[in-house]
Amino acid sequence: MNEPATPAVADGHAIERVSRITCPECGQSSDESMPDDACQWFYECAHCRALLRPLPGDCCVFCSYGSVKCPPVQAGDACCGAG
Ligand SMILES: [Zn+2]
Repeated sequence: MNEPATPAVADGHAIERVSRITCPECGQSSDESMPDDACQWFYECAHCRALLRPLPGDCCVFCSYGSVKCPPVQAGDACCGAG
């Protein structure tokens, strides 16, 4: 009996670990690296010193102001909430 080998399915999900945060106060943007499994709630703009916090419904400043969302959200997990 010959059974065809079933290759393991490797999904090519690449998690982006750098997010470009754009400051809503002064419009400056800068690339910031994100922690893998933690959320950053506060971000101080290096340009105008504004302290950014997540918008309602967002888990971290990257989800609110970044070009990409935080790694846990990219992976499809609910981070910081019902984990
Ligand atoms: Zn700023």
